[in-house]
Amino acid sequence: MDKEKALAIVKPFLTDARYEHTKRVVDTAVELAAFYEEDTAKAETAAIFHDYAKYRDLMEMEALIKNEQSLPSELLVHHSELWHAPVGALLVEREVGIGDPEILSAIRWHTTGKADMSRLDKIIFLADYIEPGRDFPGIEKVRPQAKVNLDLACFLSSKNTINFLLSKNQPIYPDTIFAYNDLFLKVK
Ligand code: GDP
Ligand code: FE
Ligand code: FE
Ligand code: FE
Repeated sequence: MDKEKALAIVKPFLTDARYEHTKRVVDTAVELAAFYEEDTAKAETAAIFHDYAKYRDLMEMEALIKNEQSLPSELLVHHSELWHAPVGALLVEREVGIGDPEILSAIRWHTTGKADMSRLDKIIFLADYIEPGRDFPGIEKVRPQAKVNLDLACFLSSKNTINFLLSKNQPIYPDTIFAYNDLFLKVK
């Protein structure tokens, strides 16, 4: 999809700050896709729409999670912050008409990750974490790995996120753990 057209579709669904974040994720993801010889057009589209459902009404998302086969009900017992990724993938397909399963997968797994992520999944997961506006503790160790070792960079992002969640006494979503273990075995 044409970049300007796609950005115009997503903009009304985002705050100004989130729209700026989205554009930085786009630039970061396209740069990583080019570096790793992945499809830059798919990376661009996935990045543009990755936070499409970020501000959807919680009741609307809850109803979708309850009713849609493709959305696991287990999401409901976890933080609603996790919902926008899988719900976003569903709505981007339904409302925007994006049918490419690789793009939809990258959107779906951008928050938690999962075991056996594709390269595009990893690029979006990582771009969302390291875009230049981000300032997470430990991010300075992740950024230099992005173009050295994609698995290691994703592993460090996953580890930082899990450490952060543990420090806040938050439960960890199963796929977040599956991503961590899978990447651990890949980088050890
Ligand atoms: P954003 O949408 O660009 O702000 O970024 P993300 O979609 O990656 O993450 C949204 C939030 O989900 C972040 O605050 C993460 O720390 C949080 N998060 C990621 N994995 C988990 C998890 O397994 N459990 C919980 N409770 N939160 C998580
Ligand atoms: Fe997100
Ligand atoms: Fe369901
Ligand atoms: Fe994001």
